[in-house]
Amino acid sequence: MKEFDYVILGGGCAGLSLAYELDINNKIKNKKLAIVEIRDEYKRDKTWSFWKVNNHNFDDCIIKTWNNFSINSKSGSHKVLNRDYPYQTIDSGLFYNKILNKIRQNKNIEFFKNINQLNLNNSIIFNSIPAKENYEGKIWQHFKGIEIETSKNIFDDKIFNLMDFDCDQRDNVHFFYTLPFTKNKALIETTWLSKMDNKSLKDYDAQLEKYIEETLKIKNYKINYQEEGAIPLFYPIYQIEKNKINIGSAGGMTRLSTGYTFLNIQDHSKYIVNNIEKIQSSKPYHIGKKYEFLDNVFLNVLKKYPDKMPEIFLNMFKAPSKTIIKFLSNKSNIFEDIGIILKMPKWIFIKNIF
Ligand SMILES: Cc1cc2nc3c(=O)[nH]c(=O)nc-3n(C[C@H](O)[C@H](O)[C@H](O)COP(=O)(O)OP(=O)(O)OC[C@H]3O[C@@H](n4cnc5c(N)ncnc54)[C@H](O)[C@@H]3O)c2cc1C
Repeated sequence: MKEFDYVILGGGCAGLSLAYELDINNKIKNKKLAIVEIRDEYKRDKTWSFWKVNNHNFDDCIIKTWNNFSINSKSGSHKVLNRDYPYQTIDSGLFYNKILNKIRQNKNIEFFKNINQLNLNNSIIFNSIPAKENYEGKIWQHFKGIEIETSKNIFDDKIFNLMDFDCDQRDNVHFFYTLPFTKNKALIETTWLSKMDNKSLKDYDAQLEKYIEETLKIKNYKINYQEEGAIPLFYPIYQIEKNKINIGSAGGMTRLSTGYTFLNIQDHSKYIVNNIEKIQSSKPYHIGKKYEFLDNVFLNVLKKYPDKMPEIFLNMFKAPSKTIIKFLSNKSNIFEDIGIILKMPKWIFIKNIF
C-alpha cells in the first residue's frame, strides 16, 4: 500500500481548496499528497455565494458580483445599500476545473477512490468526509435552486434578493433567494430552516413553480441548471485523532446561523498552509467561539419561535450594512456585535441562552 505525507479525504470544496493552496505555495514540492474522492466526475453541482470580506484564489470563477440587496417580508421590502463588501457568486464547475488543471500537473499529487488503497499510519490526514451520526431533531438549511432563462429581459441584475419571506411558512422558516446573473437569467432557490424529519417541506419543484409564476410573474422560462442540498446548522461530532484535522463543513467551517462556509474554508486552507510544517502542534483553527455561542442562541429562538424569524432577520438587516455583513462573515468587533444584539428582541434571546 502506498504512503503519503499528506492525505486529503474528500476532494470537494475544502479538500480541493487545501490541495490548491498547498500546491501554489510550493508545499508539495518535496512531499507527497493523496486525495481520496469518491465521485466519478466533476461538474457544476453547487453555486457558492458570500460577501467578499477577505481575498481568495477564485476571482476568475465568479459568475456575478453585486453590491446591493433586498430582504422581503409580508410587511414590505427593505433595500440594503452596500459599498464595502461585494457579494460574489462562484460557479463550482469553473472552480473544480481551475484547481484540477493546476494540481494534475504536480506529479506528487495523486487521486484515489478508496481509503483502503493507502497506508495512513505516517500521514497527516485532512478530513472533509461528513460524519455519520444521528441527525434527528437537528436544524438544517435545506433547499433547491434552479437557474432559469427567460426570452425577455425581466430581472434587475443590479440588486439581488437575499431573503423573501413573503411565502408559505408551514410552521417553519422559509424564504426564496434570487440571484439575477443577467437581465434574463437568475438562480432562484427555495430555502427552509427546519428539522429534516419533515418530508412534507420537500415539494421544492411545486414551491419554485408557484413562486416564479405568482410572485415573480414569469410564465415562460427554461431551466438551465439545478442544485439541491442540505447544510447542517450544527457542528458534527468526531473523535479526536492525533494525526487527523477536520476541514470544510466537517471541520466546523459552516456559520450556524447562515450556512455560509465557502470563505471560511478558504481562510482555513490559508491557515493550514501557513502552519503546515508544525500543523499537528498548532492551535486548531476556529471561526470564533463568540459566533458559536450567539448562533446557538439564535437557533434556539428559531426552533421555538419560527413565526418570529422573518421580522428578526428583517430587523437585523436594518443595522448598518457594513456591521451586519461583518457580523455574518465572522469579522465583527465587539461594538459591531453589540449593534446587532441590540436589534434582536432582547427578552426572547435572553430566555434562550440556556
Ligand atoms: C448545493 C449547495 C450550495 C451551497 N451554497 C453555499 C453558498 O452559497 N455559500 C456558502 O458559503 N456555502 C454554501 N454551501 C455550503 C458549503 O460551502 C458547501 O457544502 C461546501 O461544498 C462544503 O465543502 P466541503 O468540502 O466541506 O464538502 P463537499 O464540497 O461536499 O466535499 C466533500 C467531498 O467528499 C466526498 N466524499 C463523500 N464521502 C466520501 C467517501 N466515503 N470517500 C471519499 N470521498 C467522499 C464528496 O464526494 C465530496 O466531493 C452550499 C452547499 C450546498 C450543498
